[in-house]
Amino acid sequence: MRIRYCTDIGLWSVDRPRSSCRHASPFCARHCYNASLYRAFGHTMAPSDSLSEVSWLSLSPATVSAMFDRLERSPRFRRSRRLRLMTRGEALSTLSDLPRVRYFLDGARAHKTLVWLPTRAWRSSTLRPYAERLQANYPDTLRLLASTDPSDPIAPPGWSTMFFGDNDATSGRILCPKTWKTHANTCATCRGRCFSPRTVRGETHIHLKQH
Ligand code: SF4
Repeated sequence: MRIRYCTDIGLWSVDRPRSSCRHASPFCARHCYNASLYRAFGHTMAPSDSLSEVSWLSLSPATVSAMFDRLERSPRFRRSRRLRLMTRGEALSTLSDLPRVRYFLDGARAHKTLVWLPTRAWRSSTLRPYAERLQANYPDTLRLLASTDPSDPIAPPGWSTMFFGDNDATSGRILCPKTWKTHANTCATCRGRCFSPRTVRGETHIHLKQH
C-alpha cells in the first residue's frame, strides 16, 4: 500500500486524488491548499494520484499489514506511532470507503498507532452516522476531526473540529503550533491537540492559521 513521509507535518501519510473531495465546502474548493501544488507540478501529480487511488482502492488487511511491517522499520514512525489519512483527498468519500478505513484502523490498532483523520464527511447526511460510529468503535486508535471553514463553520454536536480560513476567528479554538508558529514536523510531537483523547469526546477545536 502506498504511503509517504510528509516532512512538513513529520508524519507518514496516505493520499488520494482531489476528486475524492466530494463533500468539500465552497470555501474549501476555492482555497484548497493543494491547488498551488497542482499548478506547479500538474504533470507529475496526475500519475502520482492514479497510483495513490489504485493503492487505496485495493487496500485489504494484507496490504495494510505489509505497510505496517515496512513502517515498523522506520525510526521516524516508531518515534511517533502516528499516521494521517489523508494529506490530500478524502478517506471517507463514499460508503464504499468504510471497509477500507476499518481495515486501516484494525492494522493501526494492532500496531498501537494513532490515525488522524480530518474529514468533510460530516457534511454528508449519509456518511456522517457511519463516521461517528467509526469514532465510537475505535476510540483508542482514531482521531476524527471535522474540517470546517468560514462557509461552514459549525460541525454537528459531538465532533472535534479543525477550522481554517479566518485568522481572527480564534475564540473557543486552540491555536495550531505548526501554522501559528510555523514549526515543521510539529504534528509528530504535538500534545493536547488533534491526537488528544479529548478529540474522541468532541472537545478539541483547532484553529489553523491561514498564510
Ligand atoms: S494542532 Fe498539532 S497535531 Fe494538529 S495540525 Fe497543528 S501541529 Fe498538527
